Amino acid sequence: MSGTAKVLHYRAQFSGGRLAVRIGTQFQSRNIININVPGSKNWRSARFMSKGISAEIEKTEKAELHVHTSGSVTPEFLLKWGKDINWADPSYPDFAKLKYIEKKFSVSLTEIFRKDDLASLKRIMESNGDKGEGLEGYLARMDLGHRLLHNNLPAWRALANDIAVNSYTKNNVTYLELRFPMIKPLLKPEEIVEAVYKGLFDAELECPGLKTAMIICTIKMFSMEQAQNIVDAMIALRKQAKYRARLIGIDTAGPEVYRNPQGELEKFDHEKFKIPFALARADGIKVVNHAGEQFLSLEDGLEAIRNSVEVLGAVRIGHALALGIDPGSLQDKTDGYGKYYGEDRIRALQAAQEDLIKFLIERGVVIEACLSSNTQTQPEMIPAIDSHPLGKWISKGLKVVLATDNLTTSHTDLTNEHLLAAGAFGLSMPQITKMISNGFESKLKNNNI
Ligand SMILES: [Zn+2]
Repeated sequence: MSGTAKVLHYRAQFSGGRLAVRIGTQFQSRNIININVPGSKNWRSARFMSKGISAEIEKTEKAELHVHTSGSVTPEFLLKWGKDINWADPSYPDFAKLKYIEKKFSVSLTEIFRKDDLASLKRIMESNGDKGEGLEGYLARMDLGHRLLHNNLPAWRALANDIAVNSYTKNNVTYLELRFPMIKPLLKPEEIVEAVYKGLFDAELECPGLKTAMIICTIKMFSMEQAQNIVDAMIALRKQAKYRARLIGIDTAGPEVYRNPQGELEKFDHEKFKIPFALARADGIKVVNHAGEQFLSLEDGLEAIRNSVEVLGAVRIGHALALGIDPGSLQDKTDGYGKYYGEDRIRALQAAQEDLIKFLIERGVVIEACLSSNTQTQPEMIPAIDSHPLGKWISKGLKVVLATDNLTTSHTDLTNEHLLAAGAFGLSMPQITKMISNGFESKLKNNNI
């Protein structure tokens, strides 16, 4: 039980003095249920939850539809693969980000790898769960993974394999859609896709019944030309049967509000990618989209969700927090433009949310809810799991699936996300099972290859 102390700070207490902790995957004993609760200060204990439900969730076959490569590099994996990297090489284009990490965590990356210092890597790479740290801090934790993947194709292959095999063996994930950007200055897009494909293919051979697919992430701050280049590369690759069957989704990731090359604050304009994404769809590529996770005003967040569907043709939306947070909670606050949320505006926003929910239900659009990630990146909106809109979405009839977003950065896995949902919203096993089947019903891959 050496790992117990590590997670005591989550303070997830169960009735009868039982302690709920999640350490790795297999840690179970008589009175202990595995669960890892980020931002748990206001989290009500899941008194109803039995070890039976926990075991049932763990053994049920699951589909993971929203998980990124760079945020799922485990500290153990990085320690093994990062030894040959010169962490002090200033010619690495994002060297400043590595220096920032060294300063923020008071570490020397060179020393960490020299001393095999796994504990320090964990501290850097895993969101600690005590409190949200905002999107910026969260994304910084992925920079070590980005450095590894900068120019190392064998690491890409091994990572894809590691994520798939671990998800399968530890969480019974039998269907996986893995997301990654295929733009790395020193690697060709087709090389990255081939490496990921091979890693996933090996995993399928190793894990009976496992099926996998690939989703390419464009980045919201890209120009239309950059998005078009990615789509062109995908379409060219998809002329090969092996990719046509597996390279099946496109996404826009990254901050929804960012600084443009002129240094001005800019929100993502879905029209910018309308043509490239339409061409992708014409080739049979499906669109999934990060939207409504981060916004200057709630109106912007709702608009981003609607535009994902109307402009880009998204069939699933990642995060969609704007759709669920209570507009009433914004009373007496100002938005990112300095505009006041008055009573009339709040009423209009409530109506707009209801309209959008109806619209998404009519269109059959699915929400990918990432509970841990949302508490970590959006602590003001989602200070704890039970303030997440998941419960509201389910009661409104939206089709929702749970996803991890980033296994390492969010310090979670798919079983844990379901346990969090069950605990925070008092979901019954049939409700949990329904969300799990939503995952298989919403997969992008429609064949048996
Ligand atoms: Zn994501």
